[in-house]
Amino acid sequence: PVVTRFAPSPTGYLHIGGARTALFNWLYARGRGGKFLLRIEDTDRARSTPEATAAILRGMAWLGLDHDGEAVSQFARVERHAEVAREMLAKGHAYKCFATQEEIAAFREAARAEGRSTLFQSPWRDADPATHPDAPYVIRLRAPREGETVIRDEVQGTVTFRNSQLDDMILLRSDGTPTYMLAVVVDDHDMGVTHVIRGDDHLNNAARQSQIYAAMGWDLPVYAHIPLIHGPDGKKLSKRHGALGVEEYQAMGYPADGMRNYLTRLGWSHGDDEFFTTAQALEWFDLSGIGKSPARLDFKKLENLCGQHIAATEDAALLQELEAFLAATGRPALTEAQRDGMTRGMYCLKERAKTFPELLEKAAFILNERPIAPDEKAAKALDTVSRGILSELTPQLQNASWERNTLEELMGAFAEARGTKFGKLAAPLRAALAGRATTPSVFDMMLVLGREESVARIEDAAQ
Ligand code: GLU
Repeated sequence: PVVTRFAPSPTGYLHIGGARTALFNWLYARGRGGKFLLRIEDTDRARSTPEATAAILRGMAWLGLDHDGEAVSQFARVERHAEVAREMLAKGHAYKCFATQEEIAAFREAARAEGRSTLFQSPWRDADPATHPDAPYVIRLRAPREGETVIRDEVQGTVTFRNSQLDDMILLRSDGTPTYMLAVVVDDHDMGVTHVIRGDDHLNNAARQSQIYAAMGWDLPVYAHIPLIHGPDGKKLSKRHGALGVEEYQAMGYPADGMRNYLTRLGWSHGDDEFFTTAQALEWFDLSGIGKSPARLDFKKLENLCGQHIAATEDAALLQELEAFLAATGRPALTEAQRDGMTRGMYCLKERAKTFPELLEKAAFILNERPIAPDEKAAKALDTVSRGILSELTPQLQNASWERNTLEELMGAFAEARGTKFGKLAAPLRAALAGRATTPSVFDMMLVLGREESVARIEDAAQ
């Protein structure tokens, strides 16, 4: 069975790249009936914070990336990491190195002067334990010096590292704490991770980590190192590219479905498919669809996909998500009456809205109560002539049967009788019903508001 994991370092918010890594691991596992695990790599005590862990969990929850079991704290496992280092020592795959910082610096200095590789070669690698001093030491891997270390990567292909360029890495520091390289391997092994999907900034680490797997005789996971994300300008992603935290996208009101669709497409493809549901992504996602070159952020595409997802979401589910957005961004909750109106109107609100704030803007006619105060643009549509027209229209609306067809016919005839087009009527009606110049269609608004409320608003505006 497939077991994947997301292993963030809790030193900041969940950024776009991290979210995509989490998503790919989630899709791969969930699409195969496997497990998706979460490990918080909190061994850097100075930089790790509980706030960052909380932000990562919130970001994942928003995107619906649920993980199996409890989140694992890497720091809580230091004893186990040290135990593996000592096991490697006992088996001869590692050795105690007593070299001091000064000795290592002197080695490098001399190597540089002689034009040799400055990779440290410890004199303790082959020393007789009987000669060991009673002094602080680190535990180093006895790495192969000859030959090559080969990583077969599902994305990068076969990547070869010359062993002469990989030094005997430290596994356990002199204060007894494990190094990151050791911790990752021990944790992935103990957690039963079968597939490691992560950023290609970790490709070199894979070479070193595979040497630890080999020394312990453990099965190597399948590796897939994905290219990093670049900004719209093709440069490495940085602050100047704007929103980098997933929660910023949530705050801007992008729906989670759309964000998930967009992030899935960021570096992965399935034919020409752009818009797809999460169910389709789960069915289609595979490692062979991951591209080899960096994906570029494209906000237009994000908006476009989000608009399609809002339109495709069922009304009730969309209302729920909208209410979660209101709560998450500290906006006032809907009243009972507003929720009823939204339930009736959602079908027309969700067309052409790319974000929740846009949807709310279109919902002004539902959310605002009488008397409707027109904004500046709408007020211009309510000049004396238009108000006169509106007052002639209301008696006819009083008696009409309140259905789309009848209303359309009635308005068409009314406009014709006045030698004009319905389009001319629309602006004052929008202003009367919503107080806005841009709204859903007049008929949709009238049907959602009902006869009594619609007529009252038009009468108000006609005064
Ligand atoms: N903690 C590492 C990071 O945040 C990830 C390590 C891994 O996935 O192996 O970049």
